[in-house]
This record gives sequence, structure tokens and C-alpha cells, in this order.
Amino acid sequence: MRPDPAPHVPAFMRYVTGALLAATIGLLTWHHYGMERVIELSDRKKTPLEVSDDRGSGGGSVATLERGGGVLRMRCQLTHKIDWPHCKYMFFVGQGTKGLDLSEFDSVSIDARYSGPGRHALRVMLLNFEPNFSTLDDWMSLKVNELEFTVPTQGVTQIPLNVFHTATWWVDWKKVPLEESGMRIDNVTRVELHTGATGDAGEHVVELRALRFHGKWISQGRLYMLLMGAWILCAAGWPLMASLQLRRQLRHSSKRLSLLSEVNRALQLEARELVEQVNTDPLTGALNRQGLRAALMSTPAILAAPMSVVFADIDHFKHINDEHGHDAGDAVLRQFAAVITAGIRSSDKLVRWGGEEFLIICSGTGAEQARVLAEKLRVGLKNTRWSTGHGITASFGVAELTPNDDIGDAIKRADEALYVAKDSGRDRVVVDLPAVDLLTDGKAGKAAEPR
Ligand code: GH3
Ligand code: MG
Ligand code: MG
Repeated sequence: MRPDPAPHVPAFMRYVTGALLAATIGLLTWHHYGMERVIELSDRKKTPLEVSDDRGSGGGSVATLERGGGVLRMRCQLTHKIDWPHCKYMFFVGQGTKGLDLSEFDSVSIDARYSGPGRHALRVMLLNFEPNFSTLDDWMSLKVNELEFTVPTQGVTQIPLNVFHTATWWVDWKKVPLEESGMRIDNVTRVELHTGATGDAGEHVVELRALRFHGKWISQGRLYMLLMGAWILCAAGWPLMASLQLRRQLRHSSKRLSLLSEVNRALQLEARELVEQVNTDPLTGALNRQGLRAALMSTPAILAAPMSVVFADIDHFKHINDEHGHDAGDAVLRQFAAVITAGIRSSDKLVRWGGEEFLIICSGTGAEQARVLAEKLRVGLKNTRWSTGHGITASFGVAELTPNDDIGDAIKRADEALYVAKDSGRDRVVVDLPAVDLLTDGKAGKAAEPR
């Protein structure tokens, strides 16, 4: 029988692990080089916007907006009438109180040109709506996160979002509690681009092509957490799957084992039946000669003294066959064996020696006891109602095993005694006693008279 293979993790688990490895490499690579998510504020994107100036807070600067060629051009006539003169773009990126969540974004890029007197600085403001202190009617109630940068003469300015900070002037003015004053850009409803804080008076022109927020579809931290979770699940899956597999194999083995033991039981039964068939005469159920040999071999104590052999032979059996047919003869043989079996002890062995000749091996039985038994059987047979409807008798030869005998000798002497019984008229018992002739019932014996 082929031994069970060592328990192994099913191929499915290898595929899962392989796929996870490929996914990890793929996702990390993609995350590094792509997975870009961009929100663009521009004329091209038709982002709702206005330009505004400081006149609303008492200043005298005037801002105007021109559109064309994908450029949002703001002309700003800056006038130093108040402390913080300015002009500005205002992009409306929210719907009421619902704004953009920029917390997963990494940077903002600004494609702008600046011309005018003095320093060319722009200030980006990300205005976050926070229900704790923001209201819809007052834009100054939005948290101001800002950063000022100098506009280069060419190229796009890229600013990481983590360098933005909540405007200190706003915190002071608004008197926001410290714990709420940190930068938050998870609900930005408005993005503004102001001229710098220290702009010189005169005409300033800002040409804005686009303001873009750059991020990944999933943040690095979240991606790492996700992958780690997947790997932990996978690592836990290996021993789990291995134990499931082991259990399956055990179940399979024990099933096979019980099947084998069933087959074994059936074979043993069959073997026992075969042995019985080999040792038994099929017609009468008595032992055959081979059966006697096997019985003597398996139970040698049968031969322990005293032991006697009784030879029984049906008288004129040939006539039964001739008169009633072979089948009727068979029936008589079966009935004969049954009557004898009923009359002997279970420790005695009935053997069909030949056609209508039977041996009874009587262990623990001396010649006299065997004679009494034979006599009882003889009478019993004589009084039996036979299937043929006729009276049937049998003759018996008895011999006791002597210390010098083997079983063959005893059988031979019983056969000789039987011959004497036949010869002297049948339907009688003759005991073979080598030394003394013993008459049984006044008619049995070596020279007994026929009845
Ligand atoms: P005796 O009294 O001298 O023993 O006469 P017998 O006719 O009984 O003895 P004999 O040996 O002349 O005949 C035995 C007959 O038994 C002959 C044979 O056809 C018959 N016989 C042997 N085996 C079977 C058997 O299995 N079935 C049947 N029906 N008859 C059998
Ligand atoms: Mg006979
Ligand atoms: Mg015979």
C-alpha cells in the first residue's frame, strides 16, 4: 500500500501567496510611479471662480479678471490704503458645507506667471469648513491654511501640502482654542490665491494656467497597512490550511483503514467457510477424512486415552438406492447423520468415511462406554421413521485405542468388528477386544450370533 504523502499546504494557498506577492510588488511599484490623482482648478476645468480685492475691507486696490487661451489673467491695481493691500483669485470648490478632502493629497502645483513692481509673491490659502466655528455666510469663519511663495519666471511651482500652516493672524483674530487651531484640509470649500503680503503699489498681472492638487488614489500609509493586513491573513492561512489538509488526510486514512479491516473480516469469514467446506461432507454435514485429520491436528487431546472408534454402516443400503432412487438414498444418508449427531456428545466427532459408512470418534470413552453408545444409536436408528417409509438398520464395529495403537489401527480394528457384525447378521454392535471377546447384550461380540 502506498504510504500517505506528508501533509502539505494545498496548491490553492501557494497560488494565493504568489498572487499576493505579485500584487504587493505591483501595487508598490504602481504607487511609486503612478496611481496619480489630480484635482485641477483652472479655466479649462471651468472651476467656479471670482477675483476680488481689498475694497471690501477699506482698501483701494482694484482687481479685474480676463479669460482667454486657457489663462486666467488677473490685473491688480495695488494701492497702499490699508495695512494688507491685496488682490485675489477665489475658487469655489465646495457645495455648501461640503468641501474637498485634500488630506490624502501630497502637494499642490501652481502654473503661474507674475509681472509687476517689487517682489513677485503669491499666497495660497486653503479654506477649510469646520462646523465647530465655520458658518456659510462668513468666509472668514473658514479655517485659513496658507503658504506664501515666490513665483519663478518660468516653470511650475510644486509645494508639498505639509508645509502649509494655519494662519496665525486668523487664529489670533478668531480666538480658536489651541486644540482646534491645527491645520486641517479635509473639508476645503474654497481655495484662494492672493498677491503677496508686501506687494509694491502699481499694476500687478498674474497669469494663472492651473492650480493642481496631486495625490495618490490611496495614501502610502494606508497602502502599507492594507498590504500588511493581507500578509498577516496569508501567514495565518498557511498553518490553518495545513491543519485542515492534515485533518482531511487523517479522515481519508481512517476511512481506508476501516475499509481494509472490513475486507479483512470478509476474507477471514470466507477463509473459515472454505476451511469448513474442505473439512465437511457436503451431503451430510459430517466431517470428511480431511476434516478428521484437521480435527486431530488442532485437538490432539482427542487421542488421549481412553478413546474409542465406532464404525457404523447402513445395512443393505444398496437396496434403498435400487428401490427408491439415488436421491432417496441421499435423503436417508442425511437423516442417518442427523440421528447419529443427535445421539452423540458434542465432543464426539462424526466422520463420513465412505458411501454409507460413518466413524464416530469418542474421546474420553472406553470400549464399554462406546459399545453402550453404539447400542443406543442402533436402537435409535431402528426406531426412526425414515423418509423412505421403510425400516432401516445399521451395523456397528467398536474398537478402543490401545497404548500400542495409532488411530489408523483402531479404525482398522473397528472396521474388522463391523465386518464381523455384518457377517453375523447385521443390525448389531460388535466390539473388537484383542485380548478378550466381550459379548454385548448377549448378541454382540466377535462371534455373536445374528439376531
Ligand atoms: P451392507 O449391508 O453389506 O453394507 O450392504 P450395502 O448395500 O449397504 O453395501 P454396499 O457396499 O454393497 O453398497 C453401498 C451402496 O451405497 C453402493 C453405492 O451405490 C451406495 N452409495 C455410496 N455413496 C452414496 C451416496 O452418496 N448416495 C447414495 N444415494 N448412494 C451411495
Ligand atoms: Mg452398507
Ligand atoms: Mg458399506
